[in-house]
Amino acid sequence: MPAETKLFLCLKDNYGVLIHDPASGATAAIDAPEAAPIEAALRATGWTLSDILVTHHHGDHTGGIAELKKKHRCRVLAPQGEAAKIPLVDETVREGDTVKVGTLSANVIETPGHTAGHITYWFKGDKLAFAGDTLFSVGCGRVIEGTPEMMWASLRKLRDLPGDTQIYCGHEYTLANIKFAQSIDPDNAALEARAAQAAMQVAAGQPTIPTTIDEEKLTNPFLRADVPEIAAAVGLAGKPAAEVFGEIRARKNRF
Ligand SMILES: [Zn+2]
Repeated sequence: MPAETKLFLCLKDNYGVLIHDPASGATAAIDAPEAAPIEAALRATGWTLSDILVTHHHGDHTGGIAELKKKHRCRVLAPQGEAAKIPLVDETVREGDTVKVGTLSANVIETPGHTAGHITYWFKGDKLAFAGDTLFSVGCGRVIEGTPEMMWASLRKLRDLPGDTQIYCGHEYTLANIKFAQSIDPDNAALEARAAQAAMQVAAGQPTIPTTIDEEKLTNPFLRADVPEIAAAVGLAGKPAAEVFGEIRARKNRF
């Protein structure tokens, strides 16, 4: 049976998301920004929390773990490289590991850069990936603990996933990301279409995610650092893509 998901806002602009396996009843929270909205989503769906899959150690992704674990006795999985910074971890996972949520199965992809041990959970069979703060809709996370080279390599790994993979990310930043993207890629028709669509979604009170890999390949400047027109737009024609990526990321930080 296919996975079901429930997306909801947490804190100021974080997303919480549940993934549910109808066959077994297992339900995982991807990260735990805060307990109350996750509890509300569990009540709304009637699902029972069995697992928390942590993408990285930041407090706005882990702040709800202690309260949820106390109540639900759920299993907490976390990236091996960051387990010491994450509360109440039961199991650590790394690149190539398989994570089971009931009968659902996720591959662990290491996507460092935002943090040094950041991971993405890819539910290949369900065409879903939970990318935390690595890949956003039309954007990417800040490179805080890694290097631009590292983040570019992580984004390329995600770009290589099947095009119809739905991407869930940690924050609702899409409109601001689009505004920035248009500043360096103003003639991109797909980006213009995405801007119109996202504006309608936000006006209607709807989330702009999930997005897809195909959509991001067309619109996300951070995935397009190896496109010659993008390199030229930031004054780095012919330069290595990682350098172009670093320049785009630096411009976004100042934007
Ligand atoms: Zn973060």
